[in-house]
Amino acid sequence: MIVMKFGGTSVQDAFAMRNVLSIAQEFSGHKILMVSSACSGITSELLSIASDSVCLNDEDRIRRIQEIIKRHIDICNELGLEQGTVLQIEEIGAHLLSYCEGIALLGECTNRSQDAIASCGELFSTIILTGLLGSHLNVQWFDARKSMKTFDSPSKSQVHMEQTSLLSNQLLKPLFEQCDIVVTQGFIGSDDDNRTTTLGRGGSDYSAAIFGAVLEADEIIIWTDVSGIASADPRVIPNARYIESMSFDEARMLSFFGAKVLHPETILPALQKDIPVHVRNTFKTSDRGTTITRMGDELASGMRSVIARKPVSFVQVRASQVSNEHSMSELIKELEQLSGLKPMISVMIDSSIGLIYDVSISKIEEYVKHLEEDNNAEIGEYALISAIGPNFRNFNSKKVFTKFHEIIHENEESPIIFSGIQKNTLTALVNSVHAENILKELHALCT
Ligand code: ADP
Ligand code: ASP
Ligand code: MG
Repeated sequence: MIVMKFGGTSVQDAFAMRNVLSIAQEFSGHKILMVSSACSGITSELLSIASDSVCLNDEDRIRRIQEIIKRHIDICNELGLEQGTVLQIEEIGAHLLSYCEGIALLGECTNRSQDAIASCGELFSTIILTGLLGSHLNVQWFDARKSMKTFDSPSKSQVHMEQTSLLSNQLLKPLFEQCDIVVTQGFIGSDDDNRTTTLGRGGSDYSAAIFGAVLEADEIIIWTDVSGIASADPRVIPNARYIESMSFDEARMLSFFGAKVLHPETILPALQKDIPVHVRNTFKTSDRGTTITRMGDELASGMRSVIARKPVSFVQVRASQVSNEHSMSELIKELEQLSGLKPMISVMIDSSIGLIYDVSISKIEEYVKHLEEDNNAEIGEYALISAIGPNFRNFNSKKVFTKFHEIIHENEESPIIFSGIQKNTLTALVNSVHAENILKELHALCT
């Protein structure tokens, strides 16, 4: 079985949906679990309607929801789908209208409401895909919430792997006895009480990897709008080169440090079951894309890709009581309780603690002020620049270290450089205005 995930742009309109159909036809003879995102822009708009419903007047709220419903019905009509598909879209649309009316009446938008509303995006897109594919191929629609079980905080839930595995094998796998393709939703799941949850923004990649792992798929293909993983974001560095193969380790670091092309959690389930992940372009199916495997490209060396993540906030706490591991974790916990945020990186720097948060300074500043009574805390907003390679701890790593430091120092008076946190990553915090230049210069070193 192949798990194929289609991202937002890959299902954004009738043209893109037809592309998905031809990809499915190209793969005829295989059993395919198709995991789809919402049409591009829909999740953001749904989340914004959800929070705006607290204060929007009825007319504006209903108008914005009707626009979303219309966008999907227009796609159905352009594809010439049967009335049954349009009715299903209208049914989800009716739920959406009531959820938002509930928010307006109560004057409160909870995380649970946000999840229920955001889930409509994936429900819409998968209903359309099933309608389209169903007129050419043997297809069934599956509600991912029946088997993707989550726990912990809504909006960015953790996946309960055992339950998800059990339910996917009980409910989803048998569908392949009657059909070749099952279409389901990325990003959404449900908790123990069967309330809708979501896996965090960009979480459809993660859904695909989880389904791939629990169903022991032969491969996972992430179909997106670029021809694989490149040496830099091709939208920022137009001459970025696509990387043919890389290890799970390298891909994990790349997504962790901010390459949007893969959700950071995607790799782990695939790695645990040793399932190759391919990243390919929905609109250029002849391009080879990137293949991610345990070993990757064993001949590769040096710096292979660069990433800028911005803005990030850097919190540095200097105090005598925070000089050991124990107090570091307490400090992180305290900040997490106050702000609800977890640091993406935490390091000890001499007698202080450095915490990097993947948010702008305005989202964390006020909470850091609470700490200042007992500690001496400083906070700043930066860009996090990272260079990734297969392994910087091998024989030629010295040259890479030197070059990295040189370029950062030439551009930035007082950068904060972290080397050697991971064996395949070099990272520096720099002023955001210098980020693009540094990225270009580092990119020129990529092999
Ligand atoms: P999807 O909707 O298919 O999930 P995303 O927008 O989440 O697509 O991810 C694809 C985008 O990731 C690309 O359009 C590209 O701009 C961005 N990107 C960032 N870094 C990289 C990289 N190193 N290689 C390829 N794409 C990258
Ligand atoms: N639709 C969701 C989002 O926009 C999930 C995804 O696209 O992966 O975040
Ligand atoms: Mg994505």
